[in-house]
Amino acid sequence: MAISTYDDESDVPAGVEESGSPTPSLDTALRPRILDDYVGQEAIKKSLTLTLQAAKQRDEPAEHILFAGPPGLGKTTLAGIIASELQVPFRITSGPALERSGDLASIIASLQPGEVLFIDEIHRLNRNIEEMLYPVMEDYALDLVLGKGAGARTMRIQLPRFTLVGATTRPGSLSSPLRDRFGLHYHLEYYTERELTHIITRTASLLDVDIEDAAAHALAIRSRGTPRVANRLVKRVRDYATVHGDGLIRLRDVQEALHDLGIDDKGLDAIDRRILKTIIEQFDGGPVGVETIAAATAIERATLEDVYEPYLLQIGFLQRTPRGRKVTDLAIAYLNSD
Ligand code: ADP
Repeated sequence: MAISTYDDESDVPAGVEESGSPTPSLDTALRPRILDDYVGQEAIKKSLTLTLQAAKQRDEPAEHILFAGPPGLGKTTLAGIIASELQVPFRITSGPALERSGDLASIIASLQPGEVLFIDEIHRLNRNIEEMLYPVMEDYALDLVLGKGAGARTMRIQLPRFTLVGATTRPGSLSSPLRDRFGLHYHLEYYTERELTHIITRTASLLDVDIEDAAAHALAIRSRGTPRVANRLVKRVRDYATVHGDGLIRLRDVQEALHDLGIDDKGLDAIDRRILKTIIEQFDGGPVGVETIAAATAIERATLEDVYEPYLLQIGFLQRTPRGRKVTDLAIAYLNSD
């Protein structure tokens, strides 16, 4: 079985949840709660600090905010930080969880003044629900349609002012009316090795385990620029060090544990290698369409596009051309050196 660095218990919200549950999961415990504890994304933090300070001084909710970027980079975490910095309730839902307009209406109708409502994967909202959001975002008004056909009428409910925070891995899939209703747009970038080393050290300390600097750095290099991956790897290596060592995470534990997981020196796992090798071996290195790659590798197209491709593009192993995806010479040289 191929093990993916993205597998594991998910902290991606499903359905509606509220924060502050009495038994927070490990992932919840690792999430920074204030901006000062949030590592990296300096430009976003600077801008958010200003926005939040202004909102506090005016005693108003912050504007609606859109976060875009690959999974695991900290969009949900930032939304939670906004709520805790403003000391307002935080509610989480996601595009696919909102199936009927009633699902959204019941959440919206119960919003508290100033509340932060986070909608993950907002590009996956269905059309009716998206249209229902327009007056909600613009005028803080919920238009409910009562009855059907010729007798149908609309009832408008005035809502308290609140902040909608949307997150998307695909900003290009968002309709422009929806995108334009967000006052602030931020694009999260992959993290540097230094930032990831910092996150890994912080996570280890929250998990109450010691980690050597060299081990933290080695994990950072293999974390695909992604804090969620970094946290997962710390947990796996901690298990390894508990069983095979004395609990302290050393460089050797990282090397051995990751080797067992099939994760290589650049953090590529079996699935990344399958994608690259399929394009090289079956399609002569490409260009080849994403649909064809999905069929040949048996990986869902959305997973391919949202999870695997962005990092392979980022490290220069894959190129997007008008005729499809192409494996670069850099990737071929890397795979041959294995
Ligand atoms: P996204 O919503 O973009 O998929 P999350 O906000 O769920 O990502 O982040 C995934 C995990 O990574 C969180 O559990 C959090 O602990 C950690 N994390 C994300 N960004 C940071 C950061 N900047 N500093 C520290 N930890 C982070």
